[in-house]
Amino acid sequence: MNKADSERIANALEGLGLVPVENKEAADVIVINSCSVRQSAEERVLSRLGALKTIKKERSDLVVALAGCMVGSNTSDLRQKLPFVDVFLKPLEVDDLLRLVLDRKPGVGDAAALASSSTSEVGFEKVEHGEECGEEMSPQNDELSPVRWVPIIYGCDNFCSYCIVPFRRGRERSRPPQEIVEEVRRLVASGAREVTLLGQNVDSYGHDLADRPDLGDLLELVNGVAGLHRVRFLTSHPKDMSEKLIDTVARLPKVCEYVNLPVQSGDDGILRAMKRGYAVDEYRALANRIRRGIPNVSLTTDLIVGFPGETREQFENSYRLLEELRFDVVHVAAYSPRPGTAAARLADDVPPEEKKRRLQQVEALQERIAAENAKAMLDTIVEVLVEGKKKGKWQGRTRTNKLVFFKDDRPWLGKLASVRVDKASAWSSQGTVIN
Ligand code: SF4
Repeated sequence: MNKADSERIANALEGLGLVPVENKEAADVIVINSCSVRQSAEERVLSRLGALKTIKKERSDLVVALAGCMVGSNTSDLRQKLPFVDVFLKPLEVDDLLRLVLDRKPGVGDAAALASSSTSEVGFEKVEHGEECGEEMSPQNDELSPVRWVPIIYGCDNFCSYCIVPFRRGRERSRPPQEIVEEVRRLVASGAREVTLLGQNVDSYGHDLADRPDLGDLLELVNGVAGLHRVRFLTSHPKDMSEKLIDTVARLPKVCEYVNLPVQSGDDGILRAMKRGYAVDEYRALANRIRRGIPNVSLTTDLIVGFPGETREQFENSYRLLEELRFDVVHVAAYSPRPGTAAARLADDVPPEEKKRRLQQVEALQERIAAENAKAMLDTIVEVLVEGKKKGKWQGRTRTNKLVFFKDDRPWLGKLASVRVDKASAWSSQGTVIN
């Protein structure tokens, strides 16, 4: 979601006539789009801002902006702590930045440009936030990237006990299907071949709209956009994934066989304390239904270790579930309390070294499982959508989101390549193009 927001801020700035540059020393405007989902993300943002302080001292005309989830009702605290930052932007807000840029850099645009660059025109909604994910924007040549991100529902109504998102991004607000389809068409016209439909809880898309369309209906519409090769969606919630959605993914040719289904814990007591709304058996049954319903699907998950009160035995329940379900990827994080959430009132009683041990145990297990799963790709032909080049090799992803590299002299960017997999490891594969 932060990546999508960053692209939209970049588009708004480019609408004023600014262009991306190679490094921060050459920039007139630097935006850090922050994440507050974990303490470590906030620390990284603060350290990057610290590095900008020196540049700002030498160049007072430089515009420095802090955007995203770290900005909320606490703006005056942030102003005190970070006096060299010129503007603070809550998630989905960009207008204050554009006004400041026009004030400071009169050559870059005019009021008409502001009108056409501001929020709604670049795909941000205009919304009043309630109370209140770190990425420094860097030039990405996004107009050339065949892979783009499209938010379809903002905010989250779930209030999982550890999560700051509903406080920072507000309640769920879906974008109308037609607006999304139009955006996808525009992206395809500018070179996109794959879109990922985004939401903190993407499966609850549409419940707040007049005709109550659901994610399945939206996938049907996006699947019909000419010129688009692939559609993905992120992130699903186990309590909201319907049979209809599973059937739709299996049926629509452009929708990829890839589902990220965060489990967060393999222990019922911890799931209750997390307020996740499902039990381990329900999760297991759903994962099996997805695997039966969508042939060759890649299933990935998210897991938190060291939640308040998590005993060794409860952690082992999570570990055993990972062994049993053999996900392709597990995004694992050590719990860190987020002020204002329900879990922050619980004693954070798993010692840091034990959290680290559990984290490393999961990482080691997952590396082994991912390497074993990857072996099934050896000597098969996979369809790769080529996203760019790295160290002289083309790089892209399979429909199941596996990273593949191959060497070839022809121009492959944005095209589908058939690649025979010669080497497959836990994190990526190497192959030979055959078309
Ligand atoms: S579903 Fe839970 S973890 Fe995900 S964004 Fe909403 S509150 Fe946070």
